[in-house]
Amino acid sequence: MSQPERRPVVLRGGTVLTVDAGHTVLEGHDVLVVDDRIAGVGVDLEVPAGTEEIDARGGIVMPGMIDTHRHMWQTAMRGYGADWTLTQYFVWYYLEHGRKFRPQDVYAGNLVAAIEAVDAGVTTCVDWSHGLQTTQHADAAVDGLAAVPGRFLLAYGNIQDAPANWTGTSELRDFLDRRRGDVEGFQLAFDVTGDPSFPEKPAFEVARDLALPVTTHAGVWGATNDDGIRLMYEHGFMAPETIYVHAATLSADSYHRIAATGGSVSVSTESEQSAGQGYPPTWALRSHDIPVSLSMDTSVWWSGDLFTAMRTTLGADRSREHLEAHARGETVTHAALRAEHVVDMATRGGARALGREADLGSVEVGKKADLVLVRNEHSPVSFPILHPHGHVAFQAQRGDVEAVLVDGRVVKRDHRLVGVDLAAARRAVEETVDHLRGELGEDEWRQGMNPDIPETKILDNPYQYTDYRSATTHGA
Ligand SMILES: [Zn+2]
Repeated sequence: MSQPERRPVVLRGGTVLTVDAGHTVLEGHDVLVVDDRIAGVGVDLEVPAGTEEIDARGGIVMPGMIDTHRHMWQTAMRGYGADWTLTQYFVWYYLEHGRKFRPQDVYAGNLVAAIEAVDAGVTTCVDWSHGLQTTQHADAAVDGLAAVPGRFLLAYGNIQDAPANWTGTSELRDFLDRRRGDVEGFQLAFDVTGDPSFPEKPAFEVARDLALPVTTHAGVWGATNDDGIRLMYEHGFMAPETIYVHAATLSADSYHRIAATGGSVSVSTESEQSAGQGYPPTWALRSHDIPVSLSMDTSVWWSGDLFTAMRTTLGADRSREHLEAHARGETVTHAALRAEHVVDMATRGGARALGREADLGSVEVGKKADLVLVRNEHSPVSFPILHPHGHVAFQAQRGDVEAVLVDGRVVKRDHRLVGVDLAAARRAVEETVDHLRGELGEDEWRQGMNPDIPETKILDNPYQYTDYRSATTHGA
């Protein structure tokens, strides 16, 4: 797959969600891109000769979205775990079948996930890659990401071995040196069990040695808890670049420690709502002033787009506020979380979490030209645009992404990806599905997808509708 060519581009006459510090919205503005940067934002901009014109009238121009936690290697199993809980996920991936993924299976998942991200306007994505049993798997992961014109960070992880083991190898250091130029950056991805002997300490030391941020599933019901946060804090491993994923079942004390050390939380609302990590925590994080970014977690269950993340996050946050108020006999008259806040979390918030706020996450002159045009002339939902942030959060969806620019290159135009071989990704995914299905056998394959449903006890009902019906004189 070739890099699309780069020439000056102007998006004409759109409603621009700048997501600058004041969340400024500009109606009927142009955005000019020269090389990899935003060169101008204004009305009827003069542009260099040969500039490509993209009509943005009637549409919304916004920053490329940023996902801070996505297990891209799992995407070849898209939708398989739709009815899972976290327990079934752990059994399937961690205990039973995760080892069956070959390097080419990681490649297939990453390739289609990377294409899926860019297609949906997610221009930067952290690949939380915890299926890297060998560095061959890691090379395959990077190969899949590097084939697609987006910004991808590899968060290196391996659920099949203890963090102290796999972080300490010379193979890992060689790999990081060798592939440095092929991705946007690296992180180390591992979880902290809360074991009082703190066996993850050597892994944190490697991260510090290599100046790599750590990303960790923290506050996951039944898996990680306050003890992990306390151990990280006591050993001095909580840093501003640390990303705490979910952070859904933590005490105020842990939130204080996160806030005091400058870290951020990656909230995966769609995931937390159905897998069982805990209640999506934005409503609680707000009062601790902890920065939030959004993420989709895994396409084994959920959608791979941040429109859904924004929508579910607003819903979960407001739902909780109402419930808490009702429990006190009160009524919420003003929503605390606004559409503009979730648009910020999906763009600027991700840039902040990755330490890239200086060049990503907003539409401002001088920043990297990662842009999304939300427009769909064939959709009755595309007008009127009265509340642009609200339109993005509640009305738009991935099919409305008409154009995407990454690093100044047009990678999607007129609703079609540019220079992306989707057929090759499809073939790679089909091979992986055939391999895994063959390894599991047909019974186990079907069983894995169809967990038992607990019995629902129907309550005794004092009202007898049959009596009512027989007592009436209607009908024959
Ligand atoms: Zn996760």
